[in-house]
Order: sequence, then C-alpha cells, then structure tokens
Amino acid sequence: MAIDWSDHRLNADLHSHSTASDGTLTPGALAERARRNGVALWALTDHDTLDGQPAASSAAAALDLPYLTGVEISVTFLERTIHIVGLGFDAQDRALTEGLRHTRAGRSRRARQMAEALAEEGIAGAWEGALRFAGNPETLSRAHIARHLVAIGHCGSIQEVFQRYLTDGLPGFVPHQWAALPDAVGWITAAGGVAVLAHPARYDLNALQQQALIDAFKRHGGQGIEAITGSHRPHEYAKYTALASAEGLLASRGSDFHSPGESHVDLGQLPSLPASSLPVWACLAGRIQVPAR
Ligand code: AMP
Ligand code: MN
Ligand code: MN
Ligand code: MN
Repeated sequence: MAIDWSDHRLNADLHSHSTASDGTLTPGALAERARRNGVALWALTDHDTLDGQPAASSAAAALDLPYLTGVEISVTFLERTIHIVGLGFDAQDRALTEGLRHTRAGRSRRARQMAEALAEEGIAGAWEGALRFAGNPETLSRAHIARHLVAIGHCGSIQEVFQRYLTDGLPGFVPHQWAALPDAVGWITAAGGVAVLAHPARYDLNALQQQALIDAFKRHGGQGIEAITGSHRPHEYAKYTALASAEGLLASRGSDFHSPGESHVDLGQLPSLPASSLPVWACLAGRIQVPAR
C-alpha cells in the first residue's frame, strides 16, 4: 500500500547527526539504526555540512528507508546561536553548498580559541584532543571538545563539560558569528527545501524575543517549527506544537540523535505529532527519496 505522506502519526525522524559533524555513528550505521527502530522517513541533518548526504541517501535506499536530504545550519540572531534545519533541498545546489562552506569556515579557528581558553583553565591539548574525535577541523564542534575532556577524565560526562566550560558565559566559551538568518533560510528554500526552526525551547529567549525570531523566520520564508524533538523536554512538546499551529507553521519531529552513549532519545522513539498538527512531511512528499519497487 502507498504511504500516506500527510499522516501526522508517521514515524518520521528528521533531525540526526553523523560522523560528518558531531555524531559518533557513520551515516550508514545511522540508517541501519533508523530502520531497526521503525523509522518510516529519515533525514540526516549534520551541522553546516552536506558531506554525509551521499552515504545517507544510498544507505537509506539500500534499506528501503524513505529519505529526505537534511542539514542543520548555525545562525546568529539577537546575539544568540539559533539552529535552522533544512529538509528536502537539492544537495547539489551551489548557493547552499557555498553558504555552508562559509558558515563552517570559522569552526577551526574558534576551536583553537576555545582550546586556548581551556589551557588558561589548566586543560592543555584540547585542540589536538578534539581533532582526534572530529577528524576534520572544518567540522570541529563543542561536542568534540567535550568528548575529549571526558576521555582524559577531566569531566565525568559531556553534560558536565557544558555546565562547567562550554556554555555562553563560562570560561571555555568563545562567541562566534554564524550565518545570518535570512541567508540560511534563503539558501534552503532557493534549493527547493523547507526551513524549520530547530528546538525553539533551547534558545533562552523571552516572549518578545521569541516572537521577533519567529516573525523574522517567517518573513524570510521559514515554514516549520520543530516541536517534538529530543532537544525538548516532554512538557515542551505540546507548547511548541500549539505554537506552530498558532503561527500557521508546519510541525516537525526529530530525535536530534548524536550517539548511543550520549543521546537520551534514540532514532524513531519520540511520540507522534498530534492530529491537530500539519506535519512538515506533508508538503515534502515530492522531495522524498522513496525505495524503487
Ligand atoms: P557547536 O555547533 O560547536 O556550537 O556545538 C553545538 C553542539 O554541542 C550541539 O549541536 C550539541 O551536539 C552539543 N551541545 C550543546 N549544548 C549541549 C549540552 N548542554 N549538553 C550536551 N551537548 C550539548
Ligand atoms: Mn550537535
Ligand atoms: Mn541544534
Ligand atoms: Mn542537532
């Protein structure tokens, strides 16, 4: 039977990370895990890179797993880092790939600065250590530095690293200018995709600031809000599905899975969207890579 792509109950997981950014599983291993966990539509959404896309889409095809192209773009808005998930775009699009190349270009220098700040706190070698987890200096993230600090026994958990060092205002944090919101949304939509505001509860915004973010996001062509996500607490799901409806935005769902040892929510394990939601996948049906029959 044909899949009903407008079904709000579809086990879609449209937010996940691989070794192409700060996840610990390869795109192929993620595809297998998604399949095993009953995911019915998957997107790999690495931070600021499409490097994992070819492997993700071919692994999904080999497993008969419907797939959407994905990315999570780092944006600076109101002096905060905001994440925009892009889904269903043309992964060969020049403006998008160039925009992402620019966006991740600063990661290596920023990581060096974070390592210097940590050295002042008595933690030497964080650059070299983080690189061993990342492989590629272009995709170095705070998550890689955190893994290193745990590996050397300086902190007991990734969470502890963020609580002591790597969050805004703490000694290892280095402010960074990411892409502009209109650019990121524009790259995604011009490449034929849909832009989704990722995990809106995580930005430490007051009501006015959140409204300014959503207004700007919509004005520049953003169409969805990630409501049910591993980066929200369960009590936040209903609030953000209601917000999506109230704003006339589509609702999205994704685990934000990074690693079996680190992520609380596994691929495909979140509750469904409520019947009142318009799922983002309903308007992406034509962009889904479906297995050939
Ligand atoms: P970056 O893009 O380098 O700023 O790194 C951001 C990434 O760090 C996020 O995508 C998460 O993977 C991870 N991260 C951020 N905050 C936390 C936290 N409190 N606990 C665990 N991981 C976090
Ligand atoms: Mn991450
Ligand atoms: Mn994010
Ligand atoms: Mn993410």
